[in-house]
Amino acid sequence: MEFTPEDVELVQFKNKQVSAQCNKIITKFAQKVSDMYDIPFDKLLKIAYDGADVEATDERCIALKIDKTRCTRHVQLDGYCEMHYKKLRIVEKKKPVVMEQVSHTHPMTVFFLNGCPACEKYS
Ligand SMILES: [Zn+2]
Ligand SMILES: [Zn+2]
Repeated sequence: MEFTPEDVELVQFKNKQVSAQCNKIITKFAQKVSDMYDIPFDKLLKIAYDGADVEATDERCIALKIDKTRCTRHVQLDGYCEMHYKKLRIVEKKKPVVMEQVSHTHPMTVFFLNGCPACEKYS
């Protein structure tokens, strides 16, 4: 049996409707779980979409905006829009710098101490 172009269009239209509905449910569910159990929203969506076909991801960014609604931008990289991807990358890059921070080996009443890694770093 051959499909007419109209058939294909109808199937595509139906598929889009179904995935839009699925995405609504997944988004709502992830928002609730994220709120209740303090799990990052985008991590939950990543789990939900892991292994799902491309259509089911609806090509929207998986990050949560400041007003706690899902970002409506188009996916650019790794499930995120360009803005959220950059934001996350910056956060990841910042972490090692914090870890590298050296602290003074003496009370702050001592202005400078030879051999203190923090004093030597900033002098
Ligand atoms: Zn985004
Ligand atoms: Zn010091």
